Amino acid sequence: MSRRGIVLSALLLASAGTAASADVLKINTVNYAGVEASLLRIAEQAATQILSQAGVGVQWCEASTGRFRSRCPADALRLVILPRHMRERLKLARNEALGMALMTMDGLTGDTAYIFMDRIENLVFEDTAGRRSILARLLGHVMVHEVGHLLLGAGNHRLRSIMTPIWGPAEVQGALQGGLLFGPEHVERISEFLCERSADGGS
Ligand SMILES: [Zn+2]
Repeated sequence: MSRRGIVLSALLLASAGTAASADVLKINTVNYAGVEASLLRIAEQAATQILSQAGVGVQWCEASTGRFRSRCPADALRLVILPRHMRERLKLARNEALGMALMTMDGLTGDTAYIFMDRIENLVFEDTAGRRSILARLLGHVMVHEVGHLLLGAGNHRLRSIMTPIWGPAEVQGALQGGLLFGPEHVERISEFLCERSADGGS
């Protein structure tokens, strides 16, 4: 852990779970899939909760389309929620992926990720009780997973965590029970990344 990382850990302990200001992450949700506003709120709340457990605070701003993007800070990460017809145009090799982070050629950084809403919907049977709430929370988890790629770099999958590469029934159940979080090594690396970004003049 770097010296800045140690200082950050101390700050996090002192703030008793409240993220230090250097850790506040701005996220611009671009909702091309037309996800219902109240469902998106629940998803963002679920994502906020997971990220806060990794010591990361979140400031959300939303845009229904790119037309309103200027309302969001320029340094915000962008989570673009796509409907099926837009996702299909990407012609992805992996049929089961729920999202995709756009990374630089070296795979180290990125600021935009796509989320495939139709695939999230396919994980939950139509007649499942409380389907709407389940979908909202799953969307929140996928949002965090993609933010994880943007902060940690490409790859960095880890089974039985929010960075699991596989999202089947067991993972859905784990997510709904609050059991899919960042692993300790990822929490540490995210803290270091955000501290370094803050020191470089970002926020
Ligand atoms: Zn992934």
